[in-house]
Amino acid sequence: MADKSGAPPRVSLTFDDGPGERTDELLDLLARENVPATFFLLGANAERHPEVVGRMRNLQGIEVANHSTTHQDLTTVGRKGVVAEIQRTNQILDDLAGPWTGYVRPPWGRHDPVVRDVARVQGHPLILYSLDCRDWSHHSTIETIRIVTENAVDGDIVLLHDTLGTTVDAVAKIIEGLRRRGFRFLTVSALLGETVPGQAYYGRVSSVVSTRRWISAQVLLWRRRFQRLLGRGLR
Ligand SMILES: [Zn+2]
Repeated sequence: MADKSGAPPRVSLTFDDGPGERTDELLDLLARENVPATFFLLGANAERHPEVVGRMRNLQGIEVANHSTTHQDLTTVGRKGVVAEIQRTNQILDDLAGPWTGYVRPPWGRHDPVVRDVARVQGHPLILYSLDCRDWSHHSTIETIRIVTENAVDGDIVLLHDTLGTTVDAVAKIIEGLRRRGFRFLTVSALLGETVPGQAYYGRVSSVVSTRRWISAQVLLWRRRFQRLLGRGLR
């Protein structure tokens, strides 16, 4: 898996929506395995689990970021709504986490010119992801392990959810599987380096891989549409 330069492939594990009931347990695992990770916290959940956020601040290799306060689609709440959703969580993280990344990940990855402009003015780079294992949709530990370990490529930012027990159960095997493929784990900030407020980042996957992924996603989409159409015709 190492590229021509011989450098090991890099990957960032990111966890959204927490802290949840099992985030503490996940932090134990990451610390034991010495795996860095970036947590995109929901302000409302950070307030519910202040001790977990406090722990993140003291764990080496664990990064904290803002995933809004109440998980609304920021493209539907207007400029004031965007400001409120981001600022409230900024305050909570300032209080509980101390210095943090300043990254914002908009819920469902949705952003528009208003969201990007607020992020720019307030100094937040927007951090999206390049590999969505759809743990939120299939709720399957086996699928989560399979999709991540089989599909990860150099420069991927992997989207996971620490609020899902099926995902927490998958992380040990994901670490094992990616290590076997030679991957090195990095926080998002270590993977991306310098970032610019208001700009959206999707990892550092090569354009060849992103184009190939885009094409297979389109093929899948059209196949589903075609099958639906066929199904309708037969009835
Ligand atoms: Zn989310």
